[in-house]
Amino acid sequence: MTEPILSVRNLKKHYDLGGSLLGSSQHVAKAVDGISFDIHPGETLGLVGESGCGKSTAATSLMRLEEPTDGEVIFNGGGRETNARREGEKSHPNDVTRFSNKELKRFRRDAQMIFQDPASSFNPRMTVGDSVAELLLVHGMRDRQQRRTIVKDLLERVGLSSEDYDRYPHEFSGGQKQRIALARALVLNPDFIVADEPVSALDVSIKAEILSLINDIQEEFGLSMLFISHDLSVIAKVSDRVAIMYLGEIVEIGDTERIFQNPQHPYTEALLSAIPTPDPRTRNKGIKLRGTVPSPANPPSGCKFHTRCHQVIQPESIDIDQQNWRNLLNFRDRVARQEIDIQSIKENAIVGDKTEATAEEIKAQIRSDFELPERVSDPELDSALDESLDKLADEDFEWATERLHEPITTPCEEEDPAYSEHADGHQSACLRHDDVRESVELAAGDD
Ligand code: SF4
Repeated sequence: MTEPILSVRNLKKHYDLGGSLLGSSQHVAKAVDGISFDIHPGETLGLVGESGCGKSTAATSLMRLEEPTDGEVIFNGGGRETNARREGEKSHPNDVTRFSNKELKRFRRDAQMIFQDPASSFNPRMTVGDSVAELLLVHGMRDRQQRRTIVKDLLERVGLSSEDYDRYPHEFSGGQKQRIALARALVLNPDFIVADEPVSALDVSIKAEILSLINDIQEEFGLSMLFISHDLSVIAKVSDRVAIMYLGEIVEIGDTERIFQNPQHPYTEALLSAIPTPDPRTRNKGIKLRGTVPSPANPPSGCKFHTRCHQVIQPESIDIDQQNWRNLLNFRDRVARQEIDIQSIKENAIVGDKTEATAEEIKAQIRSDFELPERVSDPELDSALDESLDKLADEDFEWATERLHEPITTPCEEEDPAYSEHADGHQSACLRHDDVRESVELAAGDD
């Protein structure tokens, strides 16, 4: 296989939020927390995840629009391997995170970025042609006529007219502005483009046109691309491989077709399930991802997805329906955070013209609100739940938290899953795959 044009290794971007309330340790938001991937020449890697998962920060960090906290970004490493290593440093000569200003200027010629909202990146007082041509001037092309010729040609190649050179940004629609943004990204003849949600602000029909244009342009110019989107159906149209990101980490990566047909990580499964499908025979599994991505300033322990995962592992001693287990964990967490409005539950539990609900009616109302099972086969869990419901009726959250703590526990909140390899280049990080990883490690040990 050819050398990657871009190798990202353990890239981190942490934001310092200042001292903790106790003034002891610092609070840090780990927006990107050690991601690694390669992009090969001519390849598009799709980076997907919900809003707040860190994908845009990953892009701005690897492009050094903001300084990464740690990690390496080797750009075009194979092509420039012969460059001398930096004096006194062990880092790779093409590590973007170590580039000087001069090296960064060259990198920014070879690597371009397209943003979600092209309107905000155009000067309203400049013609779009001059906006695109400006980059050529910055990089040393003094001949104005030559700049005009190059930009007019590019405008035509992105589906506009050369006459558009002298028009102003407000004269164009959103889709046309994204075409101009594409022309601007291409004008320096880059090797690599990062496209950050380039179609998410566009109407459906325009979206399809721009995606098709991006595909054509990528082929024509032989570009490598990192394509970022929250929408897997968009990613499917442009990407050769996909990386799924959750709370600053890549949880699954692999060939697009393989991931769509055989997702291994529960988060990927849930994202795929959210794609609307018009064909009733291929109806999705309807996995509902509840809640939003937790804050990177206060990430969950163990597997960061455990607070929302529909596959969250139950202890071996407990045998309970998976959905009930998820509901019990949600309930335990809400009790611990004291996020249950007992007064309104009591009001809702009142039956007929009575003025007050009985303790049993209040417990039944809590069970119903949290979709908790009537009975659990494990006697310890069953009595912990029942006793906690009694105490909650008296608003004793602390007692209920303590009682639920031991029987409702999952390895997913204790252990950070390592990557397992499912097929060539297809990896995911989930404790459910430990058996796969162990068998791979055993096989490797046989050699
Ligand atoms: S480790 Fe547990 S919580 Fe994380 S994805 Fe796997 S099953 Fe879900």
